[in-house]
Amino acid sequence: MRIVLLGAPGSGKGTQAQRLQARHGVPQVSSGDLLRDAVARGTELGLKAKAVMEAGQLVSDDIVLGLIRDRLSRPDAAKGFILDGFPRNRDQANALSALLNAIGQPLDAVLLLDVRRETLMQRLAGRRICPKCGTVYNVHSLNGVTTCARDGTELYQRPDDKEDVIAKRLEVYEKQTQPLIDHYSKLGLLRVVAGEGEFEAVFERMEAAALTKPVPAAAVRVSAAPVSTKKTVATKKKTVSTKTQPKKSRTAAKSAKRKATSKPAKRAVARKGARKVAAKRASTTAAPKKRSVKTASRSKSARRKK
Ligand code: AMP
Repeated sequence: MRIVLLGAPGSGKGTQAQRLQARHGVPQVSSGDLLRDAVARGTELGLKAKAVMEAGQLVSDDIVLGLIRDRLSRPDAAKGFILDGFPRNRDQANALSALLNAIGQPLDAVLLLDVRRETLMQRLAGRRICPKCGTVYNVHSLNGVTTCARDGTELYQRPDDKEDVIAKRLEVYEKQTQPLIDHYSKLGLLRVVAGEGEFEAVFERMEAAALTKPVPAAAVRVSAAPVSTKKTVATKKKTVSTKTQPKKSRTAAKSAKRKATSKPAKRAVARKGARKVAAKRASTTAAPKKRSVKTASRSKSARRKK
């Protein structure tokens, strides 16, 4: 399974990717997680990315590409990957395509999680995350609980999930990432998945879309072999008349068949005979005519001699 998850922030790419990873054993490769990890570790790269991320803008292509290249070269990605949040613009899509071609691992599909804007806003503004295990919650379903149900850790809100930053991130998505829908559609890789509704139902749709192998147009063939109707009908008649009918009607059928076959045969013989007779008559009537022409000319010259 080598797929890209495309979709606006808050469309559920991360949670769906985690579930696909658990079910199919292929790693989720999230550019956002890789960047957040670099920020948390305080690396040089992380320090560069931090301010850009908090402003809801895109981190430079070079930085993100470097992270993705490293991650995909790890052994667990050899059996496949679920790219989440990458690529986010055309240049990244082209760089990804070059990278995957170089390692002989082209994409199987690009899944677009389709979610309405108002749902995105609601999900992002209410999102709370466990910093320990990464489980994602929403304040609307937490009913005042502020800790993780799995490990009791206090949940936190991502700095870029504040309302003013959310608006910026959605704007960046529309301008820079949305054109990839057209890009992957033209490459025949895009599959659109309805991203609203029960989590399990969305997951089932995602999984089905991820596992369906596309059939290349060149491999689709419609059989153009002509159907021989005469032969089929004759065989069918034979089978029905001799085996599937009771004895009485079988005899009747046989005699009917004999009649049917003998009449044309008789007619054919009669026609042949008629043709022969006609030909004989034609030859016998033509000869006297010729002779009579000759006789006529001889008798003329004989008369002149006289
Ligand atoms: P995400 O967790 O995917 O919503 O990403 C969080 C933030 O990380 C984004 O708002 C960007 O600032 C940055 N980021 C994640 N992925 C990329 C990417 N492919 N290219 C540039 N910036 C990215």
